[in-house]
Amino acid sequence: MKVSHIEHIGIAVKSLDEAIPYYEDVLGMKCYAIEEVTDQKVKTAFFKVGDTKIELLESTDPAGPIGKFIEKKGQGIHHLAFAVDNVNEALTEAESKGVQLIDKTSRKGAEGLNIGFLHPKATMGVLTEFCSEQ
Ligand code: ZN
Repeated sequence: MKVSHIEHIGIAVKSLDEAIPYYEDVLGMKCYAIEEVTDQKVKTAFFKVGDTKIELLESTDPAGPIGKFIEKKGQGIHHLAFAVDNVNEALTEAESKGVQLIDKTSRKGAEGLNIGFLHPKATMGVLTEFCSEQ
């Protein structure tokens, strides 16, 4: 497997309206996209930092993954996403090396990317996502 860079860092926030001004007014970044991903019950806001993005995640449903995460742990870093050539190949390779998967095959994430998650129990507590354009 070849990871080219950190595609994005996912950060769980209670409210995009509260979080975006911090990134824009304090850190001087520009939110270039807001997108709802109904599959994951989140609304996302994106910022670019070099080749990496910051993905803010606001829950749209308390029973969804971000809603549950915030209830348990509060706001904060939720996951790390690595850019790979092909998500399905990366998932298969990780599984063949004994890593527990959340997604056996890729699904569609924000920005039309293919994504797949590894289980944080198998990755020293870091919820890990693979992203690719194919
Ligand atoms: Zn992500």
